[in-house]
Amino acid sequence: MIASRDVPGPLPSSGPSDARAPGPGFDYLIVGAGFAGSVLAERLASQLGQRVLVVEKRPHIGGNAYDCYDDAGILIHPYGPHIFHTNSADVFEYLSQFTAWRPYQHRVLASVDGQLVPMPINLDTVNRLYGLNLTAHELSAYFESVAEQKEQIKTSEDVVVCKVGRDLYNKFFRGYTRKQWGLDPSELDASVTARVPTRTNRDDRYFTDTFQAMPLHGYTRMFEKMLRHPNIKVMLNTDYREVMQWVPWRHMVYTGPIDAFFDHRHGKLPYRSLRFERVTLPQERFQPVGTVNFPNDYAYTRVSEFKHLTGQAHAHTSVVYEYPCGEGDPYYPVPRPENAELYRRYEAETEGLQHVSFVGRLATYKYYNMDQVVAQALTTFKKLRARHEAGVRE
Ligand code: FAD
Ligand code: UDP
Repeated sequence: MIASRDVPGPLPSSGPSDARAPGPGFDYLIVGAGFAGSVLAERLASQLGQRVLVVEKRPHIGGNAYDCYDDAGILIHPYGPHIFHTNSADVFEYLSQFTAWRPYQHRVLASVDGQLVPMPINLDTVNRLYGLNLTAHELSAYFESVAEQKEQIKTSEDVVVCKVGRDLYNKFFRGYTRKQWGLDPSELDASVTARVPTRTNRDDRYFTDTFQAMPLHGYTRMFEKMLRHPNIKVMLNTDYREVMQWVPWRHMVYTGPIDAFFDHRHGKLPYRSLRFERVTLPQERFQPVGTVNFPNDYAYTRVSEFKHLTGQAHAHTSVVYEYPCGEGDPYYPVPRPENAELYRRYEAETEGLQHVSFVGRLATYKYYNMDQVVAQALTTFKKLRARHEAGVRE
């Protein structure tokens, strides 16, 4: 049993607590200026008049969705290509308050057996790869004939071999997954490769969500607008532990890694990281689509060309190679049973902490896309608003 004094808490003398009775300090200390932290800062300030301090250890806002111009003047995503897509009208409408959009449908080709073929696997992928001329109906029958039977679909290997058989699994998924995660697909939850569908038609879009678009002037501009409120102060280059004892606050929203919050007392949660290698080339276009995947060759998994995503016109182009690695910034929670179990031990610790909300991909150890994090933050806001309206004092 861990005593509550062992975890961060608000200063006892944090003073009056709402905008009707302004006092020293802040109502909310928000750790992290990514989607989770920025959405909550914006909602709490604009809807409840709360005074919010956002503390971010990096030198910029936006978290992993941050974008900026490189030396050549090309808009890039320093933490890897971020493509916005969602089926949630609520999330899309919410973000639309802070940005206009550029419609963009992401397309991916995979380099397999010396060809560039559509990924997700579709009718053209199979026909081109095997030199066939199947119809959609015949492809369904083909998949059925090669699909393996399993009683239960548990792992990322099961998902794929039970849909498209072993050969396509080996060509498209096995090598990529082993590189990306440092694990065999049989060691990962089904949810990982289940992110990528299989199609029997010729649809070659990577996503089929209702809303698919990029912020017209980039993610960072969108975050700037979200955080532009007189009640929101942003402190960059600062770990929250440097200030939480000195700044009065009542409630914390924590969006960093949950195991770090508890000083890794149950052991480290595994995160997968990436090393990004960026190149600017003196040519307008480098590759035919936004991303080319390399499941079987090279140490990198994929190459993305930003101008496809952003629509920017420029005489040069910038591309990024993603090299997966074990050490570095925590980018991906690793979905597998033992990690979920370890996460649950940390989650249990949070239950006694009424003055801290844990939100986002790292704080809830979930392999969430941006829209899922926005949805989670909006749900957290509703809970905090209910407490506020009920007059709950921390
Ligand atoms: P983050 O963006 O990680 O923000 C957390 C912030 O907290 C960080 O800025 C961090 O510096 C800060 N922080 C942590 N600890 C502390 C501390 N102690 N003190 C102060 N600050 C702290 N999603 C999509 O929808 N589409 C995509 O195409 C897509 N592509 C991706 C590509 C890559 C390579 C990666 C890694 C992710 C991608 N995602 C994509 C997922 C997306 O990045 C996340 O869903 C989203 O950015 C998570 O937001 P967040 O606020 O939870 O976390
Ligand atoms: N994947 C694969 N081959 C591919 C694309 C994806 O094996 O060509 C697997 C891999 O395990 C990857 C997962 O499917 O991590 C999810 O892919 P996604 O493109 O959603 O990954 P992300 O964009 O989140 O890195």
